[in-house]
Amino acid sequence: MIRRTILMYHRVAEDPRDPYSLCVSPDRFEAQLRTIMESAELVDLHSLSSTADQGRRPDRRARAQVALTLDDGYADNLLAALPIAEMLGAPMTVYVTTGYLGSSAGYWWDRLALLLDGRDRIDLDVEIGGDRLRVLLTGEAASEYALVALHTRLRQLAVTEIEAALATIAEQLATPMPEPLSARVMSRDEVCALAKSPLVTIGAHTVDHVLLGGRGFAEQLETIRRSKEELETLIGCPVLRFAYPYGDGEAFDPASVEAVRRCGFETACTTLGGRVTRLNDRLRLPRRVVRNWHAGEMQDQLRAWRAV
Ligand SMILES: [Zn+2]
Repeated sequence: MIRRTILMYHRVAEDPRDPYSLCVSPDRFEAQLRTIMESAELVDLHSLSSTADQGRRPDRRARAQVALTLDDGYADNLLAALPIAEMLGAPMTVYVTTGYLGSSAGYWWDRLALLLDGRDRIDLDVEIGGDRLRVLLTGEAASEYALVALHTRLRQLAVTEIEAALATIAEQLATPMPEPLSARVMSRDEVCALAKSPLVTIGAHTVDHVLLGGRGFAEQLETIRRSKEELETLIGCPVLRFAYPYGDGEAFDPASVEAVRRCGFETACTTLGGRVTRLNDRLRLPRRVVRNWHAGEMQDQLRAWRAV
């Protein structure tokens, strides 16, 4: 059987502050793609997921297939990832959160990281989703621990509640709300420029990057459908791919999958690990998360995942 694996990236950037390990440097991105191409074929997500459907007889000579996806629509996807993808002829799918396009405020998690960055004492008393959270941490790892604790709780909330909590955190830390300049999100024009490349397919990722799991069907359908429609209007072609924000086991539920199906998406990616086989639901595709690995580490990972 041909091995088929979907990889997930976020940012292709060199950023010394990368507390969520979302960045792969441009040099390493290129090295990773070259490593993949030594033992697999880099293909478009659509052809990877549709050929897996056919269940044809295995061809022992056929090469493994790998598809690239990048989540969240960071500007470096256009500025750094695209030139490398074009140089190597690598197709990629970029999932865009429409409500953040052109926003200089950027994503809430990037602002949270900047708020906490480098502090060796953090003293917070915030209300998060109706619960009071007291954070009192000192020492070298204070900002790291606070980031994990706050991110885990904040991501459960609606975007307005997250913004309110962030404002409280900034106030209690006595600092103005930072702008994550290095983690800039694409403008609408930049999404159009990216969409023009024949190697790029734009996918939807909701309007507000809300954690869908556990929310009402109508609310889920609305943010999924609107992101699709807004992108189709923007780039002028059908948007048939979706990725669940956060993507893990609690990030989506059967209502999310039904909403995605009803909107007419052909594929939807999770962040649950694994390879793509005939047995996978096309609206619950597994992906492998790639970190800032050098070529040797990438090779080891591809083998460990049994991707090649
Ligand atoms: Zn995302």
